[in-house]
Parts: sequence; C-alpha cells; structure tokens
Amino acid sequence: MDFTEAQIQRYARHIILKEVGGTGQARLLQSKVLVIGAGGLGSPLAMYLAAAGVGAIGIIDDDLVDLSNLQRQILHGTDSVGTPKVDSATRTLSRLNPDVKVLPYKQRLTPGNALELIAGYDLVCDGSDNFATRFLVNDACHLAKKTLVSAAILRFDGQLSAYKTHAGGPCYRCIFKEPPPPDSIPSCSSAGVLGAIAGWLGAMQATECLKELLGIGDSLSGTLVMVDALSCDMRKIKVKRDPGCPLCGGHPTIRDLSSQDYTGNACAA
Ligand SMILES: [Zn+2]
Repeated sequence: MDFTEAQIQRYARHIILKEVGGTGQARLLQSKVLVIGAGGLGSPLAMYLAAAGVGAIGIIDDDLVDLSNLQRQILHGTDSVGTPKVDSATRTLSRLNPDVKVLPYKQRLTPGNALELIAGYDLVCDGSDNFATRFLVNDACHLAKKTLVSAAILRFDGQLSAYKTHAGGPCYRCIFKEPPPPDSIPSCSSAGVLGAIAGWLGAMQATECLKELLGIGDSLSGTLVMVDALSCDMRKIKVKRDPGCPLCGGHPTIRDLSSQDYTGNACAA
C-alpha cells in the first residue's frame, strides 16, 4: 500500500522500528479491532489503537457518560456528561487520527448479536466491567476463532491475558471456570479503582493487541499477567488449557451462545 506524505510523517516512529516497518504499518492500517466497553480500559486502549493507525475500530457500549466516570475514562470530557459514551469516543478517536474508521455501537453485547458483530473484526479487546460480558466475549471469540485480548482492573490491581483457542491456547473459562454468583464480588462503585490503573492496563492491552496484529514478540496466550500497583509488582503466571473445559476442552458442552445464561452480573472495573 502507498502511504501519503502525511501518513509517512504520522507513523514515522513506527516505520523506523525494524519489527514494524512500512509493511507492519500497512498491516495496522488494514486491521479491524473490536473494543468491548468505552470505559476505564477501553479509553486508553482505543486511543492508542487509533493513534497507532489501526484502520477500523469498533466500539460497543450502551452507557451514558457519568461525572463519576471521568476520574479514569479519558475518552470522555466534562462536556460529554449525559451523552452516549460511544458518541464522545467517536469524537475523541476521530480527532486523534482521521485515518481511522470508528464504528460505534450503542448497544449491549448479547448472545444474539455477539457472533455477527465479532465476525467483522480481526481481533477483539475486552475492557468490559462485568463477568457476564467477559464470559460471553470469551465464548463468542472461541466459536468465531478470533484472538481475544482481555484485561480487568479493581482497586489497585489488574490482570491481562490473550486467549487464542484457535492456536491451541487456553480460554478464559479454562482459568476462571464460571461467572461468580452476583453480589459475591465487590463492584467498582463499592470497592473503588485508582484511575491511573486503567491507563496502565489499557496501554498494556493496546500493546498486546498491536503485537498480535503485527505478529511480533511473545504472545500472552497461556500467560496471565497480574499487576499490583501498590507494590509496583508485575507477575506472569503460566496457564494451561483445561481438557475438561466446557467450551474448548475435549468434550465441549457449550456449542452455541444460546445454551448459556449470561445474565449473572458482578462488576469488576
Ligand atoms: Zn477453555
């Protein structure tokens, strides 16, 4: 693909990296990434993907901007309070980089729309704030054979991994089994979260997403990264595919999204 003069300038610091180069930058410009949630994680994630020149960024969120979001959700400004998050996200991302086609979906991800939505993208990044959605995204990505880069934050902690069952890696269910009962997990509104943690984990999530798109470095498939901001400690834990996993194991019982109850809800970011 031929770059314009403006694109050569805009992406010069990428193109000069031998691991990226003009070929890698062209690949990013032709990539399509779906971001689940325009909140704390989705903000830095989508902004770095847009700045990097990821060609199409879908962003799904049915919520309105609330004043209490602004402590961490840097896609949105004070003047956007009360308006749809996907609208302010689209404004921010388009302003950042006009090369990027932003596709806003003002709706919830459901078992009814997940597979069709995900089918149009190369990779999915989950920055949702509840376990029900996280399991739904995991199951849909496995069924659609898409790579999923998933992050979560609470209080001063974060975790991050990539799930590539199409390449033999474990899925989210292999590690976390099933959604916890509602009310058993503290919510972000009751437990709190340091806003900058969203920036830390969201930027890591964007980095892993770009690595997966470019096919460079070590994939986080089979590795769970745990971040503790208070001690500034970051640990990597090896995780394996569970042969008894109901989704990706040897004898799966989850073969479509309609067989599962994704209504359980417990907020974690
Ligand atoms: Zn699994």
